[in-house]
Amino acid sequence: MAKKITPLKFKLFSGGQITIHRLQCLTCETKACVRHCSSSTLDPVLKIQNGVPVLADDKIPTEKGWCIECLACEQDCALYGNTAIQIEFKVHTHVYPGQ
Ligand code: SF4
Ligand code: SF4
Repeated sequence: MAKKITPLKFKLFSGGQITIHRLQCLTCETKACVRHCSSSTLDPVLKIQNGVPVLADDKIPTEKGWCIECLACEQDCALYGNTAIQIEFKVHTHVYPGQ
């Protein structure tokens, strides 16, 4: 039986999350999301396996800063891929004295 393709989700140091809707990746010819992916260890966070993006090392916690939140994957996917990546950031609101 064919393996079910599920979204890849991982947490970010800033508190947000990246979701890659991998069903859209099956028909993607460029796999552009991995082209400029680097990390705090200089090794890419993402790699392509069986035609879809996966974490290059799923033992390294992305939320500890391995993913540097550069947005290159999202930009390259939107420009050259199938617009499969969604990045959510937490918005921090600062209240300054006197406001
Ligand atoms: S570029 Fe986008 S659509 Fe293509 S494999 Fe990467 S995430 Fe999927
Ligand atoms: S945000 Fe940057 S470091 Fe993180 S997965 Fe995307 S391309 Fe790689």
